Amino acid sequence: MKFRDILDFLEEVRVLGNFSEEEIAPLKQPQQIHQAELELDGQKYPAFRVQYNNSRGPFKGGIRFHPEVSQDEVTALAFWMSIKTAVVNIPFGGGKGGVKVNPKELTPQQLEELSRKYIQAFYKVIGPQVDIPAPDVYTTPQIMAWMRDEYEKLTQTTAPAVITGKPPEQGGSLVRDIATALGGVYVLEEAVKKLNLNEKTVVIQGFGNAGMNAAKLLAELNYKIIAVSDSQGGIYNSEGLDIAEVIKTKEETKSVINYQNAEQISNSQLLETECDVLIPSALANVITEENVDNIKTKIILELANGPVTTTADKVLFQKGTLVIPDILANAGGVTVSYFEWVQNLKDEKWTAEEIKPKLKDIMVNSFLEIQQQSENNNYDFRTASYLIAIKRIIEAEKERENNNLR
Ligand code: GLU
Repeated sequence: MKFRDILDFLEEVRVLGNFSEEEIAPLKQPQQIHQAELELDGQKYPAFRVQYNNSRGPFKGGIRFHPEVSQDEVTALAFWMSIKTAVVNIPFGGGKGGVKVNPKELTPQQLEELSRKYIQAFYKVIGPQVDIPAPDVYTTPQIMAWMRDEYEKLTQTTAPAVITGKPPEQGGSLVRDIATALGGVYVLEEAVKKLNLNEKTVVIQGFGNAGMNAAKLLAELNYKIIAVSDSQGGIYNSEGLDIAEVIKTKEETKSVINYQNAEQISNSQLLETECDVLIPSALANVITEENVDNIKTKIILELANGPVTTTADKVLFQKGTLVIPDILANAGGVTVSYFEWVQNLKDEKWTAEEIKPKLKDIMVNSFLEIQQQSENNNYDFRTASYLIAIKRIIEAEKERENNNLR
């Protein structure tokens, strides 16, 4: 995914939505790009915090630790956060952070040091009312706890709301750990109703926080998970995988490929497996113009950010595949982050029974709104979501200009 492609897509949506060049201008570039080099044991790791748009509220978005991180990627992800928070209509803007590092090669001590260094580099530009980071690819609740601690030390404040996705005993919200997957399941259930699916075979790419929890939740709802994968490869069994066993295998051996009762397949074979629901939950750009003709599914639920390229998206729409776009499908994570932020600011602790229906309401209502927009104009779900989000951002931008005139 390139930021430039996003701008092309934004232009398409601008024309469809009859927005003026001037209205869309604030969305064409980030408000601020912050960068630093984090030094650790003689190595230098490029680090970024991109603050894309805050017209609807403080910048919000995760921090990823990954060897492929670049300024262009973080910018694209920060743009998507601005759209995502507007799609589900929570009072945040969009931002994103990243460090170009392979955290799997670090010792726990180095990981802690790097996490603290990230905050040392950026603590002046974040804050509970300014910019609120969270977990993303390869960052964990423990990392959030270190970051909160470092922020509080440097600012000499108590500020649990500076970061979300913390462990529950550190001011984290219940349900946040499974929120991305759970939000995805809520919208998937709506899509299954819409398409009247009886058979529900599922293929999941990626077995991190989102993919693994999706597998677990869907298995409980009697979906048949026939294939899953992680960065080492995939496993397939047409009769369905025993997800509890797959999770155990992953925990014990670090990879799902060591699960016994299945055939080993590659990640590309996995994506091309015939199924009813395909859930890319790893990285971006895995369904492209190269493999899109071989994709044999009825629904794609984008739990990862940006797994389907713009070109592939158009082909899928022509084929009649329902793509539930990332900016809706994985918005459960940031939605429960919002709940965490509110709990921290109000010094409250909500139960899982309180949180789940609130999350479900937001996800289902957003789905229905997008479905309506899509049906009215024969737009794909991504275009419909963008139209709704951009309208909200433009309105907020206008309100802030009006304020300036007074
Ligand atoms: N990293 C997640 C995302 O891409 C969650 C962000 C958050 O909770 O702020 O949506």
